[in-house]
Amino acid sequence: MALNLVLLGPPGAGKGTQAERLAARLNVPRISTGDLLREAVAQGTPLGGLVRAVMARGELVSDDLMIEVVRDRLGRPDAAAGFVLDGFPRTVAQAEALAGLVAGRGPLTVVEIRVPEQELVRRLGARMVCRGCGVTATPESAASGRCGRCGGELVQRADDDAGVVRERLQVFTRDTQPLVEYYRSRSMHQAVDGSGTPDQVFADLAAVAGAGR
Ligand SMILES: [Zn+2]
Repeated sequence: MALNLVLLGPPGAGKGTQAERLAARLNVPRISTGDLLREAVAQGTPLGGLVRAVMARGELVSDDLMIEVVRDRLGRPDAAAGFVLDGFPRTVAQAEALAGLVAGRGPLTVVEIRVPEQELVRRLGARMVCRGCGVTATPESAASGRCGRCGGELVQRADDDAGVVRERLQVFTRDTQPLVEYYRSRSMHQAVDGSGTPDQVFADLAAVAGAGR
């Protein structure tokens, strides 16, 4: 069973949710770089101080700093048996560093959740948020038109009209293509069809990860 997992996928592919479920199934932590950065800043660790300084300057966190944050996280005891990485690596430099970080920890499985652009535009364009508390609507709450958490009114997310969504997806594809090629050229790239229901996608992912049903 492969426990060292990297999930790749565009915005709207449901990557975060699937990473969460897979991690629970495999009994390993889900490591989201977005969460890691927020945590590091909130806890005021030395690394967090560096991250905070970069963000305060309005810059992107560099590969080197991101790699240090991930190295630190993978070194914690709960990640000893494996992990599901969500949001890392984003670049070839990060992928090369990750190869070093997992050396001796068993194979790394890289799975891309693929969803046709048309479907992503539909999903992202349909994303509703609560006017009251800002939470993203679930399919259930969207159907009822009211926020599941606070009962507030649901509205279309401002940056989600089709043109903006398409542009965001194109930027994502452009930026991640070298990463996909990196893993493909090493025969480490696998893909699952992400256009089905969340349960179908999860079953496919679990099969690829060797986690069964
Ligand atoms: Zn709400």
